[in-house]
Amino acid sequence: MRASAACIVLVSASLAAGAASAQLLPSPRTTGTSSANAAPSAPPAPAPAPAVAPAPASTCANPDAIGVSRTVEIDTTGGPGFGFEHFRQHDFLKNKEVVLTFDDGPWLDTTPKVLKALADQCTKATFFPIGKHATYYPEILKQVAEAGHSVGNHTWSHQDLAKKGMTVEKAKEEIEKGISAVRASAGQPTAPFFRFPALRHPPELVTYLGERNIAIFSTDMDSFDFTARKPEQVINKIMSKLEKHGKGIVLMHDFQKNTAEAVADLLKQLKDKGYKIVHMKARDPIKTLPQYDQMLVQEQKLPTVSQRPTASVVRTIEGN
Ligand SMILES: [Zn+2]
Repeated sequence: MRASAACIVLVSASLAAGAASAQLLPSPRTTGTSSANAAPSAPPAPAPAPAVAPAPASTCANPDAIGVSRTVEIDTTGGPGFGFEHFRQHDFLKNKEVVLTFDDGPWLDTTPKVLKALADQCTKATFFPIGKHATYYPEILKQVAEAGHSVGNHTWSHQDLAKKGMTVEKAKEEIEKGISAVRASAGQPTAPFFRFPALRHPPELVTYLGERNIAIFSTDMDSFDFTARKPEQVINKIMSKLEKHGKGIVLMHDFQKNTAEAVADLLKQLKDKGYKIVHMKARDPIKTLPQYDQMLVQEQKLPTVSQRPTASVVRTIEGN
């Protein structure tokens, strides 16, 4: 296991919807302390102090929105792992803090519902879309990215990368084609965040993602929302797990109808119970690998019935 130097830096506090609860949080961690008192000679007159940036004006129309209480920036160098179901390195949430994550989209009816619920509550989440789905519904993925949510990756076709017969090469292709597809469909920089399908983490691929500087997200609590028969069941599963854990990264699926219908009420209940939403942002955008971008472009061309070689289809009949 590598000792990752990756870390999380608090970048902003309190976008909380103009609500009275919007309070500035103390910044608990700073990396790199500056030696403030070391000047041996009289320091020059300080430059005009940079004006303290005013708190960003809230554009949230909902005074009761849960908002975003804190935004964290994640340095994905070395591929840090998050989510206590599988990793134990980075405990960055305080009690009552929740990170919302949505997998397996974008999907036609469900993802827009999730986006609306998040927008109505002026809050942000992280999405882990499937590459293929991103190519089906690029306009929906664009909406996700444009709304300010973080867009990670969840392979090209959601194969279990730990299954029998899966080679490392094939698994890398699944990962990288997914990354290329999501980046191309989103039409803007996406995050070096990755979640393994079925939360199965083959060690050699964990190493690979480390070399690619892509952070791995398991979860603190899996909602198992796909087993819920009604939206209320999704909410109950999540609320009871949160009660137990007190905080955490929650895994849901924007692909699931019941989840899409549950998010609006879920957010209200979270607010009522005093939970706060933390938004994760990547410090750097993901870098796609050109050969997989290329592979994707080639596969996007339409196949035809004819497989004949060009020389037998097109021949010069005049000139040279
Ligand atoms: Zn999935």
